[in-house]
Amino acid sequence: MPFSIVNSERTIQCPICGKYISRQPYQKKGLVWEGTDLSKYTIYRCSYCDVVFSDPIENAIKTYSEDTGGAGKRFDFYLQQGMRPKYLHFGHKQFLRRGKVYGKTLLDVGCGLGSFLYAAKERYTVTGIDCNKRQIEISRKCYNLTDVHPLTIEQFIQDYHQRRFDVVTFFETLEHISNPNEFIISVKKALNPKGYIGISVPNVDQADFYFPPMGPPGHVTGWSVRSLRNFLELNGFQIKKIVVKKYPTHELGEWFIWRLPIENIKQQILSEERLSLFDKLKILLMEVFEKILRVGLPILLWPLVIIGGSFLKGPQIFCIAQLKSSADTHI
Ligand SMILES: [Zn+2]
Repeated sequence: MPFSIVNSERTIQCPICGKYISRQPYQKKGLVWEGTDLSKYTIYRCSYCDVVFSDPIENAIKTYSEDTGGAGKRFDFYLQQGMRPKYLHFGHKQFLRRGKVYGKTLLDVGCGLGSFLYAAKERYTVTGIDCNKRQIEISRKCYNLTDVHPLTIEQFIQDYHQRRFDVVTFFETLEHISNPNEFIISVKKALNPKGYIGISVPNVDQADFYFPPMGPPGHVTGWSVRSLRNFLELNGFQIKKIVVKKYPTHELGEWFIWRLPIENIKQQILSEERLSLFDKLKILLMEVFEKILRVGLPILLWPLVIIGGSFLKGPQIFCIAQLKSSADTHI
């Protein structure tokens, strides 16, 4: 059943649980939504299921499928140098670290450049899909992935309707999708009975002063532990594990790097037609500098790292859930 947000003067329908809530914009003292023009979007928080959502709510996938910018250029450079960078973030590491294997076959939805699939290949037969063609091309070249396709989950289940997987993962994807209920129905169609899902999403309740949470048009929904749990249980999953990333004070270096113009300078150099030897040297030196900051700052400020990490809400939520057997028959 497709949900649509029915606007009325006083109430608005929650895109997740379908209940009507009062049109009281979600406001929190000092909260800034990164990248959001609040004259175009209003942000609400459902008082029933706790999900945060934007009105209007539009799929951000189109933006991502057309973006061939930064990440692509950077990987072109790595490809030329014969490098195969390991970009694994919190959700990926949580999934792989658990030691437990959730079956034999894995589909990663929104696989991006493929670094997670490359790492997961040791334990699973991997398949990946991403709406961004360029990233799929890079994942083939850079990580030698063969079963990767430039498709959305809806297109994939249509084109490969006989294929089922033991695990479907979607890291940092759910928050971009305007209709999470339809999305999760498609995910279920790609799952074996009692199959697992592995997810990570940004935590909408993270401590504010680290990075501001992202709002629409990039992130059209915002998730807390409560809303993610509600959403998955409503859709026939049983939560097996849900973890909030610790406040990443050990990433102080990252926080600092983000505030320096390093990335802009790199992008400027990489946008040149031909890179001179000096340009390549500059990029490599900047990467070494970033590494020194990443490692050095947390070591210097370790007391802050330990105290901050135990008190503050971190920026991401990771979850493993299993499809209940009674929910298998819905399709
Ligand atoms: Zn709701």
